[in-house]
Amino acid sequence: MTQPLHYDALERRARDAEHAVFGGEAVIVCDNLVKIYQQEDIEVIALQGLDLVVQQGEFVAIVGASGSGKSTLLGVLAGLVSPTAGAARVGGQNLVDMSVRERTRFRRHEVGFVWQQTAKNLVPYLTAEENVGLPMRLSGHPRAGRRRLARALLDQVGLADRYDHRPAQLSGGEQQRVAIATALANRPRVLFADEPTGELDSETATEVVDVLREINRRDGVTVVVVTHDQTLAAQAARTVLIRDGRTSSETVQRSMTSADGSKKVVTEEFAVLDRAGRLQLPGEYIDALDLDQRVRLTLEPDRVNVWPDRPVSEAESDAWAPPEDSSR
Ligand code: ADP
Ligand code: MG
Repeated sequence: MTQPLHYDALERRARDAEHAVFGGEAVIVCDNLVKIYQQEDIEVIALQGLDLVVQQGEFVAIVGASGSGKSTLLGVLAGLVSPTAGAARVGGQNLVDMSVRERTRFRRHEVGFVWQQTAKNLVPYLTAEENVGLPMRLSGHPRAGRRRLARALLDQVGLADRYDHRPAQLSGGEQQRVAIATALANRPRVLFADEPTGELDSETATEVVDVLREINRRDGVTVVVVTHDQTLAAQAARTVLIRDGRTSSETVQRSMTSADGSKKVVTEEFAVLDRAGRLQLPGEYIDALDLDQRVRLTLEPDRVNVWPDRPVSEAESDAWAPPEDSSR
């Protein structure tokens, strides 16, 4: 007897197979990710086809104007916000098709999250040690090991002398470090932080930045942090700029060794090319050449030129020749 066909399952598998290629084994993959918030009759498009690939062990900063979709992106990746369309994968798990149960498990074990508001991260009436122990308790970690692990995590974030303090007895920077220890309690693969230094002065912010860098470098935890803080962004080898719900450009820091053996860090800015080949031009380039609606593209052996659809000056008008047929 033949089995009935499960079209839903077949369709899902086909879709998964299609997306399996993009991003490969990367720890985070967003493919054409869309999030629309529905508020009564108003729709707000927070993410409109965002692509992002983050490899295991990376430290990535997300920057962008207020309202550009940064928190929404982090929320989707941490399993707190359900995406409207597109694909989002973290640690190989597809966030789009996740059941409520899978989502809870995912949030508890695969990812850690630190909010900007120090108060939102911790339970006020629990000590630092109890706060860090809480996620372990929720996931059924035996009591004996919990205490040891919680203390080890607090040691790791430089709070060996604060086990028994409650949040109100700690500085803002210390509270954020307890929050990081708490987020790491179940050994997540990825740590997300949404403006973790936003409420701190520059000195305590530095302590938090150092801790984030340390857990990334030493323990290999992938860190994705939304920030306006230059000190924090400078720690990231890669800074992704979000504009209108899409990744629009990336700044990459590479350390280079010069001929005399000295090392220096070189920063380069890139535009992001999405899966469909779409490219967002920086606003200042558009303004400088007064680009509007249509541009001419010409292909050369090593680059693509972008021209206004009219001659820029009279001299150029004489020099302008229609692009050669590049298909030859
Ligand atoms: P950012 O973190 O970059 O400031 P957000 O992701 O918070 O941006 O917001 C992106 C857009 O989505 C904004 O227009 C914001 O007003 C809207 N938005 C965010 N959260 C909600 C929500 N829960 N309901 C409705 N609209 C929302
Ligand atoms: Mg935000």
